[in-house]
Amino acid sequence: MNSEELNPAELHRYADKFLQENFGLQLDIPVRVSKRMKSKLGAFQIKLQNKKVVSKEIVMSNSFIMNNSPETVLDVLYHECVHYALYTLNKPYRDSDREFTETLERLGIAKTRTYKYKGQAYLYECRKCSYQFTKRVKGYNKRYICRHCRGKFIYKGMVESR
Ligand SMILES: [Zn+2]
Ligand SMILES: [Zn+2]
Repeated sequence: MNSEELNPAELHRYADKFLQENFGLQLDIPVRVSKRMKSKLGAFQIKLQNKKVVSKEIVMSNSFIMNNSPETVLDVLYHECVHYALYTLNKPYRDSDREFTETLERLGIAKTRTYKYKGQAYLYECRKCSYQFTKRVKGYNKRYICRHCRGKFIYKGMVESR
């Protein structure tokens, strides 16, 4: 398997299988892949409005997926699944909760923070349409133009792992 094959539908399938096997739960929320999320590898997000939950989702960073092995990507996905499972079961579910860290250890899942992007990734942006992407090579902006609008790219900096 290749990390590029890990589209939202595939990620959802893996997450659902993991949750059924380990918690007897189904994943009844969407998995989204975000091109804008650079500060985190993955997240379990709960949106509140007037103290009521209006939406829940698991978000995975696109550049993280593209720059890492499928095993590493799934490990982070399962980490987010544990947040979801404990939350659904009304148990302490935050990274700092003991129940959470003990569950990760029991299931042999690494803590997300130990990961870094494999190698270094550089962030580029199209001057014209603001399309953003990461590449493992430097100087991409000098050699290529945007396939969406044929605009020029600017180098925006290195991608941080957290
Ligand atoms: Zn976490
Ligand atoms: Zn463009």
